[in-house]
Amino acid sequence: MFNVSTGLAIWCSEAMTLALVALMAWRHNVRNKAYLYWSIGFLLSGIGFAMVALRGHIPGILSIEAGNAIALTGQTAWVVGYLALDRRKAEWWALLPPAVWLAGIFLPWVNDDYGNRVILYNLASATGATALAMAAGSTGLRREGSRTKLCAVFVVQSCLCFGTAVAMALFVPSDAEAANFAGGAALATGFLLTLACALTCMMIMERSERQLRLLSLTDSLTGVLNRRGLFGQFEAVQARAFDAKRQVAVLLFDLDYFKRVNDRFGHQAGDTVLTVFARLAHKYIPDGVFGRMGGEEFAAFATVADQTEAEALAESIRAELCRVPVSTGDAIIPVTVSIGVALASAIQGDRDKLVSAADRALYAAKGAGRNCTVIFGEAETAAPARAEPDHRSGELVPTLDDQIHALRRVGSLARG
Ligand code: GH3
Ligand code: MG
Ligand code: MG
Repeated sequence: MFNVSTGLAIWCSEAMTLALVALMAWRHNVRNKAYLYWSIGFLLSGIGFAMVALRGHIPGILSIEAGNAIALTGQTAWVVGYLALDRRKAEWWALLPPAVWLAGIFLPWVNDDYGNRVILYNLASATGATALAMAAGSTGLRREGSRTKLCAVFVVQSCLCFGTAVAMALFVPSDAEAANFAGGAALATGFLLTLACALTCMMIMERSERQLRLLSLTDSLTGVLNRRGLFGQFEAVQARAFDAKRQVAVLLFDLDYFKRVNDRFGHQAGDTVLTVFARLAHKYIPDGVFGRMGGEEFAAFATVADQTEAEALAESIRAELCRVPVSTGDAIIPVTVSIGVALASAIQGDRDKLVSAADRALYAAKGAGRNCTVIFGEAETAAPARAEPDHRSGELVPTLDDQIHALRRVGSLARG
């Protein structure tokens, strides 16, 4: 019924075209090895099936044993390609398709019987489709919608090949019927492979879109969220605060005399200071909603039980920066930060109002001599901003040094 040789010839030309397309894609982006492996996979598949199609014109060992083994090694290359797409190393199970074939084909009762060879090929191909499903789907199925569909296609392909092998084993067809089985399975596999190629393209597009979106929300120097990314997280923090019956705190950080750091140590050292500070502060912020507002200003959204917890959070960051000067390799740079904090209940907290109040608190911290924290409670946050910012408003949080100094004084007065 099926002209297997014509079908194989059609697949060979399609495989060669796809090998060329994947090769061009790899040349465009040589760091993404997935395209290279896919190109090799199509090339091997094309060559292998061309050798199979030449049965009767070339020696049997080349056409049957080698041709099918090469075509199945193409599946190995595709599996490695899907693993490379997710920056994963090649796995041993990628070699199963040609291994299954080579393990069985030299058994005389398989080699001498066309039907048994078709069964063996379908079993090897089912292994390959399962490996493809595993490679394409083992990471981040939820990340891209088309990934799930792609895995489903490979699972269907695996079931189809396995089902063909089982059906042939049960019905023991004649050679002519076996050729129909082989042709039918090959036709369906070809259709599923075309579908898989289309879904892979969609998956790659979805991936690049996701990466671009992430990039547009990330600060390129420090790797933390940028202003847009940070502001986009406010509602989630507010919802978390509401659920946990906690308050929302906005913390604004501004590195002190940062211009002097640049002037004295150079712009690159300044960049290192920004990166080190971002890493340090990010460590302290629960749920990681911390980002760079621009320049040497950073912000965080956090949920806190009360003002004391917000103070403790801000002071831990400020004290840690004071304690560990930034080392750039060439120089040790002492850096301090001023912090403005504004608090609001989860229901009333309006993002812009909170940020504006935290900004006023930060201004007050700068006015109080820098390297300190000023905190605005709910009432001060809700109060309308004055035309002239008042650097004496808010509650100046006593620094750790202040507290130690005060304790020492109390001690010396008591002794006196
Ligand atoms: P203050 O204590 O009042 O905040 O003083 P300041 O010097 O920190 O503030 P000012 O606003 O005068 O200076 C901010 C400096 O931050 C000026 C600018 O050159 C520097 N800056 C902004 N963005 C970057 C950056 O990406 N890298 C580096 N190295 N410097 C930056
Ligand atoms: Mg500033
Ligand atoms: Mg500054």
